[in-house]
Amino acid sequence: MKETDKKELPEIYRNLCETAEKMRQNSYAPYSHWTVGAALLAENGEIYAGCNVENAAYTPTCCGERNAFFQAISKGERKFSAIAVCGGNQGKPAASFCSPCGVCRQVMAEFCEKDFCVLLTDGKNVRLYTLEELLPVSFGEELSGRTSYENV
Ligand SMILES: [Zn+2]
Repeated sequence: MKETDKKELPEIYRNLCETAEKMRQNSYAPYSHWTVGAALLAENGEIYAGCNVENAAYTPTCCGERNAFFQAISKGERKFSAIAVCGGNQGKPAASFCSPCGVCRQVMAEFCEKDFCVLLTDGKNVRLYTLEELLPVSFGEELSGRTSYENV
């Protein structure tokens, strides 16, 4: 993990953090009041932003990170280099370094390499992690028993 002032980041990562911070305003979180914005950077430079969307039945709720991933995947993207995440109580400044939940980390592991960069922003400072730091012993394709789609 590395922590830095957002101003010190390369422009693309600064833009990614600011997109996540803005996307947080679109969150639909009437139950937890915890709003999250995420911005996912595909290897081709496209940014896919998402926010958390809650539901009265709770289970259908989707985190901002997965929202961003699923939008990207549905548009055909498969290679990603970084995601920025910003979260906090509704109507308040971002909390310090809201990190992805376990389910979102597992989704990241499905599509990203171990060096995939996860940026947690509080609006001013940013903590940078690799996916491997956040999910060191992940369940992957090799454990699932799926070796190829040829036999499916
Ligand atoms: Zn999550």
